[in-house]
Amino acid sequence: MILTRLRCARVLQLTLAVIKPDAVAHPLILEALHQKILENNFIIVRKKDLIWRRSDSERFYAEHNERFFYQRLVEFMSSGPMRAYILAREDAVSHWRELMGPTKVFRALYTSPRTIRAQYGLTDTRNTTHGSDSSESAEREIAFFFPEFSVQHWLEMDEPCFRAGH
Ligand code: UDP
Repeated sequence: MILTRLRCARVLQLTLAVIKPDAVAHPLILEALHQKILENNFIIVRKKDLIWRRSDSERFYAEHNERFFYQRLVEFMSSGPMRAYILAREDAVSHWRELMGPTKVFRALYTSPRTIRAQYGLTDTRNTTHGSDSSESAEREIAFFFPEFSVQHWLEMDEPCFRAGH
């Protein structure tokens, strides 16, 4: 399915953005990231605070289960509250990933110091945010975090032109 729709002369794409437990634990960082979403003209389609069981974390990161960081990542992502967003805007996937910056905080600091991970990331695991890396993974990841959300319904519905505040 193509996760785009035309609204108010904007071709909107959906992406999944997650604020990881390290950032949610700090209210000022959480607020700064929320503001960043709004300042960058994303429409917040859905927002949810949640805590993963270890099994959720294992399932979501299953493709990395051979990697050296897998256990650390799985444990961390189920260690405390997270905030997940379904975001919409033009080129939402690439725009959110640009705002996040490189996975590795060290690299982010040197190559893109104004990105979220450079500014707030602690380590390559505790790097504040997640973002889908393609429209296909956005569809899969939105279904993982928001099983009650119907992309089809969102694509078809006719909302007034406004930017949701939260
Ligand atoms: N990750 C990690 N240690 C590493 C590399 C990656 O914990 O050395 C984590 C990273 O924080 C991310 C996940 O593994 O949550 C998937 O990594 P990917 O390369 O897909 O990064 P992303 O798409 O989040 O930039």
